[in-house]
Amino acid sequence: MTFESVDTSSSVSFSAGDLALPTYPGRAVVDLDAIAHNLRILREAAPHALQMAVVKADAYGHGRLPVALTALRAGSEWLGVAQLAEALELRSGLDAAGIAREDAPILAWIAPSGADWARAIEADIDVSVSWTWALAEIAAAARSVGRPARIHVKIDTGMSRAGSAPAELPALAAAVRMAVDGGQVDLVGVWSHFSRADDPSPEGLASTAEHVAIFEDGLRTLDEAGLTPRIRHIGATSGILWHPEAHYDMVRAGIGLYGLSPDPAVATSTELGLHPAMRLEAPLTSVKVVEADRPVSYGGTWRTPTRRWLGLVPLGYADGIPRAASNAGPVSVAAVGGPIVTHIVGRVCMDQFVIDLGPVHDGESSTSAEPPAQVGDMAVLFGDATRERVPMADDWARACDTINYEIVTRVGPRVPRVHIRAKGSNQR
Ligand SMILES: *Cc1c(COP(=O)(O)O)cnc(C)c1O
Repeated sequence: MTFESVDTSSSVSFSAGDLALPTYPGRAVVDLDAIAHNLRILREAAPHALQMAVVKADAYGHGRLPVALTALRAGSEWLGVAQLAEALELRSGLDAAGIAREDAPILAWIAPSGADWARAIEADIDVSVSWTWALAEIAAAARSVGRPARIHVKIDTGMSRAGSAPAELPALAAAVRMAVDGGQVDLVGVWSHFSRADDPSPEGLASTAEHVAIFEDGLRTLDEAGLTPRIRHIGATSGILWHPEAHYDMVRAGIGLYGLSPDPAVATSTELGLHPAMRLEAPLTSVKVVEADRPVSYGGTWRTPTRRWLGLVPLGYADGIPRAASNAGPVSVAAVGGPIVTHIVGRVCMDQFVIDLGPVHDGESSTSAEPPAQVGDMAVLFGDATRERVPMADDWARACDTINYEIVTRVGPRVPRVHIRAKGSNQR
């Protein structure tokens, strides 16, 4: 199979397994076909709702603009980001790519008091409104720009995070009504977010039902104020997969579009038919023999149990590799004799870590012994375990006591993203 890099600056073709290495050794290879596939799977799970592709936090580390363009080509009607600053950058990128603004509505849900709301209005970015102070700032900006701001009223249905508390909603609704009548705002949506939609326990299901009941109450409050939002939305990936009763008019797909399960304990990527889109890898920079009972890395937290082959991988916590993965993070090495599945030994350093490549067999000297892997062999930290013998972001999450979301999102800006798709597929 031939792949094409879709780096926006150049478009170079590579054969699979033969991607040109940039000078920086590590890289995150992002498969845009996998993303398009995942969006189709999520569409099948919520066929009657609009689909927002959530590309906050640099598309969960996958690269905002290439993922956003892929999502639009795959049919997602909306894009979502957290920060208004992210939305403005995304809009510039889409404008430069020639994407008409009406074909790519963007919702941003976080902005502080004093934010540049006028720029948001001029860039055709929808903003979330949870509080009357935000509405007042937005309405003032709309007056200065001379056209209405597009808003989505957010209701706090049980996260106790953003959103209007139900007790405050009547006052917010009255203020929105005035701003609508005054031509300062266009009420596009009303929305919320579940706190336990991935939790199939009776308590989890009761929590989600309570969110829906509070949301319904909120819709009535808006209706009583004479407000009819066009798009009601509450579900993210776990809502798409496990709460079809709450798809409403739009769903917001985040983690699932990257091929990861919102909760692998409930269903794995394989069970969901999703393909993890990111492969994080770096070539071994050393393969060497270390004598028995020698300390490895800072603090000597691991000692070689026998004479050992050790490999060195040039990625560290400066690249987003959790230091909590010390002595634990799984790694697969693509050696000539087949993949070696192993793990980190000793502490993760800022720029590199050591992996165990197994015992040196009895009687072999360091010079005569046959190394199990070579310098340059690719060490894969995680990738698509549904298609290759590699660990998953889920395995890293388990090893580090965190969630797959954090594992992919924290991959540092120092690591180049290489975007691939099958040549000729899905062209603009
Ligand atoms: C991140 C986020 C999403 C996407 O959630 P996933 O679980 O990744 O699908 C949706 N809505 C809001 C408000 C979010 O912050």
